[in-house]
Amino acid sequence: NVAQDLPQLPIIPQGVSRSNFNKAIADLSEQIGSDNVSVVDKPPKDDGWYMEHATTHDMMHVTPSREFMASAIAYPGSTAEVQTIVQWANKYRIPIFPISMGRNLGYGGAAPRVPGSVVIDLGRRMNKILDIDPDDYTCLLEPGVSFYALYEEVQKRGYKHMWIDTPDLGGGSVVGNTLDRGVGYTPYGDHWAVHSGLEVVLPTGEVIRTGMGALPNNNTWQTFPYGFGPHTDGLFSQSNFGIVTKMGMALMPAAPDHESFMYTFQHESDLPQIIDIIRPLRISNILENVAQLRTAVQTLAVTGRPKTDFYTGSGRIPQDVVEAEAAKLPIGKAYWIYYGMSYGPKHIRQYKLDIIDAEFRKVSGAKRIDPATIPKDNYFWSRDKIAAGEPDLEELLWCNWVPNGSHIAFSPVSPIRGKDATVLFEICNRRQDQHGCEIFPAFCVGLREMHLIVECVFDKHDPEACEAALACMRGMVDDAAKLGYGEYRTHLALMDQVAGTYNWNDGALMKFNERLKDALDPNGIMAPGKSGIWPARYRGRGWEM
Ligand code: FAD
Repeated sequence: NVAQDLPQLPIIPQGVSRSNFNKAIADLSEQIGSDNVSVVDKPPKDDGWYMEHATTHDMMHVTPSREFMASAIAYPGSTAEVQTIVQWANKYRIPIFPISMGRNLGYGGAAPRVPGSVVIDLGRRMNKILDIDPDDYTCLLEPGVSFYALYEEVQKRGYKHMWIDTPDLGGGSVVGNTLDRGVGYTPYGDHWAVHSGLEVVLPTGEVIRTGMGALPNNNTWQTFPYGFGPHTDGLFSQSNFGIVTKMGMALMPAAPDHESFMYTFQHESDLPQIIDIIRPLRISNILENVAQLRTAVQTLAVTGRPKTDFYTGSGRIPQDVVEAEAAKLPIGKAYWIYYGMSYGPKHIRQYKLDIIDAEFRKVSGAKRIDPATIPKDNYFWSRDKIAAGEPDLEELLWCNWVPNGSHIAFSPVSPIRGKDATVLFEICNRRQDQHGCEIFPAFCVGLREMHLIVECVFDKHDPEACEAALACMRGMVDDAAKLGYGEYRTHLALMDQVAGTYNWNDGALMKFNERLKDALDPNGIMAPGKSGIWPARYRGRGWEM
């Protein structure tokens, strides 16, 4: 339980006295209103659940939760109030940590990297859809707009000709997910690639607009992402160089029609052949969306039933049990399942689906499962919604695989090649067995690369399970880096380790990031340690983990 073993609350940021902290909080409350500042002076009641999650810490804590716990939460209502908070943080040298909605589950949730930071929860009050342009197919959003809210607004306005793109769960923030370079499952699944224009409060309190937003009175901010001069947007993604207060996004033209499909493959050893088949199909857009290749075990888990319903022995659920249980589901006896969608009118879909069918059937034992045979409450239809831009929550069900189910992710990227998939999958299997963890690996295929998203589920109330999950992740990160694979995104607890693997030329990239950090954030108040970037005030003082 998070309440156990907590030190005196609130946790005061290191280097700040309790009396100065109290004075600072009183000052902030006066500036933005006491209703908009909440001090974490009592142990959080509980972690909440996905839609009502704790913002004081990571609701899926893998380390003792005080390691990543806030001292207070501030709720700004405008860009000007974000500036006020940033200036306040500089005055009192208090670390702050921005979140949009804090549903970054698997990667740290709402928690700050440095204990005692003040979390800036932008989502509660800055949640306006500032614009949806039905002609340009764009929108301009504040950080508190969730995928659900954007979807519902598009529907409410009757814009049948536009789709949004959503990740597996729709409750996250469009801005937060995009800044962390999250993915969804329509052809617009690479969210960062389809954003256009940011408004950012810098660590010293100034506000900038990027791209065309820097040119007053222009109407191209959401349609041309680059503007003039260096393209600065990248500096604000997965970084601690600023707080994004507005973001533009492209919306997708609604497909005139669409059709989900599912293939199953019988053997673990089919993996390299399947991946090598996917590569040319995906690059040439015959496979059109960020589709997924998953294992049958995850399909069992997404029924929402716990592992013990299927197997009560220790270690991995044996493959013969998986096959016997999978045989009772529409997927039938299978090892791999490919979920995809084809878009467009019937004759265009058919052209693509025939090619896909001919290619996938080269894998011995491959089967296409006819959607007409799949019951409406099956997970397949959740994937169908998501690939058509409709938010859903069914994906949460696999967290029930273990009691108090939480998860942490290992997410390496590679080219779409069978041999890379095999190497990464072997790493997962080896580390899973070593640490006795439950993992769900899924290959999410982008355009020229694939993310292998390995969700490790663990019982967050079992310290040994937490320790094993973290050790398993750390092992995978190291194994992968030795072979030249890196993560696209990571959990707070792994940020130093992952950043340390991007060390070409004596860590030249991190040296560059640190130079930027010191120039932009001289007092080191903005999310110290995020993505492994520590400001001078913290650097080399034992903060890395
Ligand atoms: P936040 O938590 O608000 O933000 C993410 C991070 O970005 C924050 O930690 C913060 O450091 C930074 N940040 C946020 N806002 C700002 C800002 N305004 N300025 C500066 N920095 C900021 N993710 C996917 O991408 N795709 C999936 O398909 C997916 N599936 C999932 C399935 C399950 C079952 C679970 C539990 C999680 C899944 N996730 C997935 C992970 C996660 O839930 C989503 O990415 C979610 O959208 C992130 O939370 P958020 O949008 O509330 O972002």
